Amino acid sequence: MTSLLNKNRPPVFCPGCSHERILHALDKAFEHMGLQGNQIAIVSDIGCSGLFDTFFNTHALHGLHGRALTYAAGLKMARPELNIVVTMGDGGLGIGGAHLLAACRRNLNLTLLILNNFNFGMTGGQFSPTTPCHSSGGSGFLGMMEKPVDVGKVAVAAGASFAARASAYQKDLPALMEQAIRFKGFSIIDIQGICPGRYLKQNKLTPKQIDENLKQLSPLNGPVPENIRPEYSSVYREHAASQEPVNLPEGIEARFRPPQPGRQEVILLGSAGQRILTAGEILGIAGLSAGLNVTQKNDYNVTVLTGPSVSEIILSPEKIDYTGITSPAAVIVLAPEGVARREDLFGNLDHKTLVIQASDVEIPFTRAKIVQADFKGKRIKKTDRALAALRILAGMNRVLSPEMLDAALKERFKEKI
Ligand code: SF4
Repeated sequence: MTSLLNKNRPPVFCPGCSHERILHALDKAFEHMGLQGNQIAIVSDIGCSGLFDTFFNTHALHGLHGRALTYAAGLKMARPELNIVVTMGDGGLGIGGAHLLAACRRNLNLTLLILNNFNFGMTGGQFSPTTPCHSSGGSGFLGMMEKPVDVGKVAVAAGASFAARASAYQKDLPALMEQAIRFKGFSIIDIQGICPGRYLKQNKLTPKQIDENLKQLSPLNGPVPENIRPEYSSVYREHAASQEPVNLPEGIEARFRPPQPGRQEVILLGSAGQRILTAGEILGIAGLSAGLNVTQKNDYNVTVLTGPSVSEIILSPEKIDYTGITSPAAVIVLAPEGVARREDLFGNLDHKTLVIQASDVEIPFTRAKIVQADFKGKRIKKTDRALAALRILAGMNRVLSPEMLDAALKERFKEKI
């Protein structure tokens, strides 16, 4: 096999950066494993280590700072045959700490390489979660105030089934990486290296010192016996295969012709408890019964039983890409709270819009056609106003027909109404 390094994109690290040694070690590991580029995905984080995926001829995914592991998890679940290597700096490790813990607990077959050079190299040498307290850097005294994290210890405590510490300068790094990639479960290697571009400007650190530092830590060289357990995705697939198949959603048969052609937009303006959302849903079902595409957007306060309740429904024979209301066919006004929420709407309406207005609710001036509905006089409860307004709309054969409304009510209430 040959190198998988991208000859059109040579590494661009600062001279002497240990990232480049790690890059070549990883390439050697791939080469020794006999992997081809399409069998590998490199998922990178942000920072200098985030450039890794561009230097290889493999599948690549560049993530957000600290989130590379989450993308990698999704990728591995979807494409279990891929060998997935995640590269992350000590900065990304800190920002995405919860993702690291989740990955260790989950034990999905991924390999995480922490390119640990004890600072945020790319952004100016600010302190990271692994910066030693005695060091200086871009954050001034702040770097001395927080206890550095022992990545390996944290990973083991969180359940990593393979954890190792290494130096970017050790000769057997490719072999350790290969062992991690071949391991069936989550593997993490904390690779300690040197950032001459930033860290070395104000601190002394040599490969020998890294070796000495590593010797002082409890040894971590690979599988962690107390955390060995089955790999997540295989267990997941086993459980998933034993589940009852989920019922497919019930289809709604297209039986009617819509009364008007083209896109129809409807806004229901009411208050909490008026079953505005239910009415919107019924209108949507009515649209489906005429073979239309439907969207419903609701707007209400987080609190319940008080405040406005607004529902915007679009019925269209075409696919609905834009779900905003531009030219409503009907506006149904049922409560002052809803009017207050969409006060600006009324001035923009013209005669093409039909407003069904509860006669005890005031609205701002509008050029729309208004039909008043005396719900109070007809003793229609506030909770039934929205449904009654749909009946008025259907009676006028606007947006929906009486047959469409009937079918939707039967569908929604399963003939109990
Ligand atoms: S800033 Fe540091 S980590 Fe980044 S490329 Fe330069 S030496 Fe390497």
